Amino acid sequence: EPLVVARDLVKAHGRTPALRGAGLDLGAGEIVAVTGPSGSGKSTLLHCLAGIASPDEGSVTYAGERVDTLPERRLSELRRTEFGVVFQFGQLIPELTALDNVALPLMLAGTARGAAQERAADWLERFGAGEQRGLRPGELSGGQAQRVALARALVTGPRVVLADEPTGALDSLASEQVMAALVRTARETGAAVLVVTHDAQVAAYADREVRLQDGVTQDGVTAGLEVHA
Ligand code: ADP
Ligand code: ADP
Repeated sequence: EPLVVARDLVKAHGRTPALRGAGLDLGAGEIVAVTGPSGSGKSTLLHCLAGIASPDEGSVTYAGERVDTLPERRLSELRRTEFGVVFQFGQLIPELTALDNVALPLMLAGTARGAAQERAADWLERFGAGEQRGLRPGELSGGQAQRVALARALVTGPRVVLADEPTGALDSLASEQVMAALVRTARETGAAVLVVTHDAQVAAYADREVRLQDGVTQDGVTAGLEVHA
């Protein structure tokens, strides 16, 4: 069974329907791109998968465990240990350098500062932000902040990576570098990676594309080709 399975998700924000029967599978080592026009429900779907929003109907399971009905305590543990969630606007801690922002999740998990910083430096390198390690978020460009946020989400070795427009502030060459790093990470660590994007060039790096239209998913389309589930 795929690592993450979402089925028949329905979710409204007040009276605005966001999801009207959305589902997807996300397998270990796989990259899936969720695409679709603005307002089609991409962010809401990601929030349901991450347990940040709870669907009105349907189910989300992670490794066979229902995520949508978990108590908040277990959810926050999952988000800390097994999930790496990257939001559209990085949410880095302004007082800390890029290096310490990335090292922090490791230190919170008990890794000593020196070892945490060493691993953090490796992940910054991987995402092309090694040279910005000593800068604080206010000194980073939008694209640099996105690279740092990705490094921070991946440094703890999550099994599931959920990223909302991780290349939204990057030009096309930089987007390709970041997607290549994500593909490499999925292959090497076996992480399941979901990327929300409106950029077809970014989606082309994924193994599969799930298209959302008015809150409904169409699975298995990539680069215009039908793909078996
Ligand atoms: P996308 O990420 O594809 O742009 P969203 O999931 O953000 O789509 O939004 C889906 C629909 O739900 C849109 O109509 C949007 O305006 C609405 N929506 C999203 N979040 C909220 C919210 N917090 N309150 C009210 N409406 C919302
Ligand atoms: P995206 O660019 O990912 O599609 P949106 O611009 O749709 O994101 O939404 C950004 C944030 O604003 C989200 O947290 C969403 O919940 C909130 N939001 C989106 N649409 C609405 C809305 N109509 N009313 C209130 N909040 C909204």
